[in-house]
Amino acid sequence: MTSIPRTGRTTDDILAELEQRKAKDTRWREGRVFSLVYHVPGSAGEAHEKLMQRAHALYASTNLLNPMAFGSLKQMETDIIEMTGRLFHCSGAVGTVTSGGTESILCAVAAYRDRARRERPWVLRPELIVPTTIHPAFDKAAHYFGVKLVKVPIGDDLRADVPAMAKKISRRTIGLVASAPQYPHGVVDPIAELGELAQKHKLPLHVDACVGGFVLPWIEKLGRRVPRWDFRVPGVTSISADLHKFGYAAKGASVLIWRSIDAMRHQIFVATDFPGGIYASPTLIGTRPGGPIAAAWAALNSFGEQGYIELAKQALDAADRLRLGIEAIPGLALLGKGDATIVTYAALGMNVYAIADRMELRGWTLDRQHKPASIHLTVTANHGQIVDEYLADLRACVAEVRSDPSLAKSGSAPMYGMAAKMPIRGFVAAKVRKVMAEMYSRSGGVS
Ligand SMILES: *Cc1c(COP(=O)(O)O)cnc(C)c1O
Repeated sequence: MTSIPRTGRTTDDILAELEQRKAKDTRWREGRVFSLVYHVPGSAGEAHEKLMQRAHALYASTNLLNPMAFGSLKQMETDIIEMTGRLFHCSGAVGTVTSGGTESILCAVAAYRDRARRERPWVLRPELIVPTTIHPAFDKAAHYFGVKLVKVPIGDDLRADVPAMAKKISRRTIGLVASAPQYPHGVVDPIAELGELAQKHKLPLHVDACVGGFVLPWIEKLGRRVPRWDFRVPGVTSISADLHKFGYAAKGASVLIWRSIDAMRHQIFVATDFPGGIYASPTLIGTRPGGPIAAAWAALNSFGEQGYIELAKQALDAADRLRLGIEAIPGLALLGKGDATIVTYAALGMNVYAIADRMELRGWTLDRQHKPASIHLTVTANHGQIVDEYLADLRACVAEVRSDPSLAKSGSAPMYGMAAKMPIRGFVAAKVRKVMAEMYSRSGGVS
């Protein structure tokens, strides 16, 4: 059991141990993991990482909890919001930088609820209408804030089903949500149609562009067709977009951006009776670390449009090559016509989780999905280097599973298979909660 050392250790000793502790983690610099890390390849990547570290370090002790004390940070937040607003085609947009997509989403749901409470206080059981592909951060927000998510099945094209969502609108509805793109299959929901629907019913519409916000605009500039999803759609009220994803910023940075201050107002929380003073806060967290804000500001300024377009091109190229390669492997099928650089595939007549297990033996970290069973890749610029090796390994793993179907009965495949099919979801949740609790529990007692 570890306790705080009685006397402090030396800087060298500590840094050496920190270096050494990383050794067995997933090899993200080499592109072996998807969706968890967004890394810029090559020597430009090394320089970018250094910039992120230095910008972060310069502001590591600062705190945007008090914007008057840290005018520098407030100005950087304003700059980031203005840059993002322009990128999303709304020069008057306002908003906040948050610690990540989940915080942006939690803030949005809280604000939508409070707006409804003020404007329609008779709504006691507020509901948000969302497609089933919406990110679990909305389930978390709904759970925390007493909002019900009305989940509507998606269409055959894996996009939100607008007529089906329209049917669910009732007196309890406080807003609509859709994604650009949704995470599981990388397709952009029909935001233009949803915007019309929202306007017709005078409802706010949130677009979750956590993964797409800082890549779709560049993909569009590269000449590809991207369905309209940003403030050009008149019904869009707010957008979440993660700087620490395709903004390639240091972890801990996202934006929640609103078309106008009127829409944003409900995000601001004020406590007036605390003996410690009047306390106002626009986001979930209290202390707001300056490091990630400074690093995100540095990332936007360092890449500029040209840098981001180049990164988007590299990611698109890698995603295209992966799609072609996967389509050419008999027994695999792509899911969805990805509008971004997300690639998802399923296996036909084979257990895709068994294939995933084999891939992990070869040093890949895979994202397993269900409904339907599939593998997900969020492809970044850093994945250009792994395309050929990934496809070669995938071909080999498919062959292994095809020739030995019993592989589906070993490793983690049966667990994923069962968890996906189990009809009683409460049972699955209890099981997973137990595993998590075990991870966090210790054998020691009071000491
Ligand atoms: C990543 C993601 C989120 C959540 O963001 P975090 O930064 O992980 O909290 C929400 N929505 C979508 C579509 C995402 O891809």
